[in-house]
Parts: sequence; C-alpha cells; structure tokens
Amino acid sequence: DGKNKVLLYKKLVETGKYIQSERLKEDTKSALENGELSLAFQPVFEASGSQMVGTEALLRWHHPEIGHVSPELFIGMMEESGTIHEVGKWVLSEGLKQLSKWHALGHRQLSMSVNFSKKQLFHKEDFLKHLDKELKKNRVPVKNFVIEITESEVSYYDNDLMLFIKDLQQRGVRVALDDFGKGTASLHGLRKLPVDIVKIDRSFMESIPHENFNASLLIGIYSLLKQLGIEVVTEGVENKEQLAFISRESNSSMQGYYFSKPLHARLITEHLTGHSEIAFTKPFDNVYPL
Ligand code: C2E
Ligand code: MG
Ligand code: MG
Ligand code: MG
Repeated sequence: DGKNKVLLYKKLVETGKYIQSERLKEDTKSALENGELSLAFQPVFEASGSQMVGTEALLRWHHPEIGHVSPELFIGMMEESGTIHEVGKWVLSEGLKQLSKWHALGHRQLSMSVNFSKKQLFHKEDFLKHLDKELKKNRVPVKNFVIEITESEVSYYDNDLMLFIKDLQQRGVRVALDDFGKGTASLHGLRKLPVDIVKIDRSFMESIPHENFNASLLIGIYSLLKQLGIEVVTEGVENKEQLAFISRESNSSMQGYYFSKPLHARLITEHLTGHSEIAFTKPFDNVYPL
C-alpha cells in the first residue's frame, strides 16, 4: 500500500501541475459537486463460486486534469479535509439507489456494502439520520445493506464505535469488519465489537495454496468465525486454486479479480438481465474495469 502511494505520488509530480499533493487534497473538496465521483461495483460470490450474492460499492474519482486517481490516495485526503463525511453520505445514497434498482429487476438475493471511514464517526448522528431517510426512500430489505468498517483503522475497545455498530444493527443494517488480519485481528476484540460479517484481508490469499502455515491459519480463522456465528467474505481471490481452497475449507463468500474487477453498474445489470456474455465464473479483466 505504501509503495502504491509513492508510485501514485510520482505520477502526480510527473504531470507537473501537482508538485505537491496539497493541490490534489484541495481538489477533493470540489470533486463531489463537480460530478467527478462515481461508484464501481465489485461482485461478491457465495462459497461455491457460482452465484453472485452481492456487490461492494467502491468510490472512483476522475480528476479533470490527471484522470483516474486511486482511492488508496484520495480517501486519506478526503479524511484529512473532512470531505469524507459528505462523500460518504453520497456513496450511501448512490449505493442504495443502485441496489433498489437490482431488487426491482427481481434480484432480491443481492446485498450491497459500502465502506465507512472512521472519520465519519465525528458526524455519526447526521449519518444515521441520512441512513434512515435513505432506507425509507429505497424499498430494499434492510438486512441486504452492509456497512464496512476497516479493522486496522479502529480499536476494538472504542466505546463510541461499539455504540455506532449497535445503532446500525438496531436498524437491521449489517456491519462488516473489513481487511481483517491487516490490523490486530484480536479474538477477544471480536467479542467487544459484535460485527455480523468479517472480510478477510487479501494478504492471506497471496500464498494460497502454496504455504501451509497461511493455509492452516485460514482454516483456523474460518472455523473460529463459524463457531462465533460470524459470516465470512474472503477478499483477493485471484485464481481457481484459491477458489478451490476456500470452497473446500469454508463456507466463506468470495470477492476478487478471479471473479471480477469492480465494474460499472451497467455491466452488472446487463449480466443480471442476461443481455451480456459476461460469465462471472471466469476472469474478464478487460471488460471495462473501473
Ligand atoms: P477495500 O474496502 O478493502 O476494497 C477492496 C479493494 O481491493 C478495492 O480496491 C478492490 O478493487 C481491490 N481488490 C478487489 N479484488 C482484488 C484482487 O483480487 N486483488 C487485488 N490485488 N485487489 C483486489 P480500490 O477500489 O482501489 O479501493 C481501495 C480502498 O479504498 C478500499 O479497500 C477502501 O478501503 C477504500 N474505499 C473505496 N471506496 C470507498 C468509500 O466509498 N469510502 C471509504 N471510506 N473508503 C473507500
Ligand atoms: Mg471494503
Ligand atoms: Mg474498506
Ligand atoms: Mg477490504
């Protein structure tokens, strides 16, 4: 991730116009009102890998001068400038709107998850008010809506966060702990933060199926989460060996480039309505990934 940021920064400097990323950070403030933001949706598959059960909404920023900017870079900037609050509300609205369209087409099994930055907790009352309004407006079962909170960003013992999670769950919204294992992966903490879903960080997949230690670790985590009654999504599934491993060892859902990169909503709709040749059971990197 750090390496990624450096590369992106270099690219910015090379454009000449953005000697300092301060400029870019300033630009994040007007990105929403200028219509430069969009969402990409990455499919999530159930354990056998044959059925799409949902999507994750991922923010995209097309900067008028430098083009696509990676979220790894601009999310942090939006957090620093405070813009993340308004942008996060927009992501929620757009994500729910898209989900309700897919439900209206009859695909009522689909869920939608959106990422939530820890910084958004500063305005949690406003966020919850917005959530209530949007849930009322979009007629989808609340349980099909998921909010993802990144494990490494939070403390398992943060009382405010725990109360927020309860606020969400009281409404029927489900909560996922994102990138689990990149942070402390505290087992005791899992009892303190009663999440519904754990998304296992993609770094665990990297050495599957070649490394016994990681494989054993994963098998242990799957079994533990099953005992705890927590749903699992494994991220970063990039090949069929990994898919086979997960199918054999767990009941985990899967997300990753093997199935699909994040896509324009239209492509997912076309797939759902059968007007597309896209088969989500094989890689299709070149189909307009976003
Ligand atoms: P994330 O929430 O963990 O999202 C998954 C990221 O992993 C996405 O990167 C996705 O494109 C990438 N990915 C998915 N499958 C694979 C795979 O098989 N291999 C590899 N190498 N990567 C894979 P993306 O879209 O660049 O987003 C990066 C991060 O930016 C997200 O990580 C999330 O933390 C953050 N982000 C994106 N959208 C939002 C948003 O609306 N709000 C907030 N607060 N954060 C967001
Ligand atoms: Mg996520
Ligand atoms: Mg995330
Ligand atoms: Mg993740």
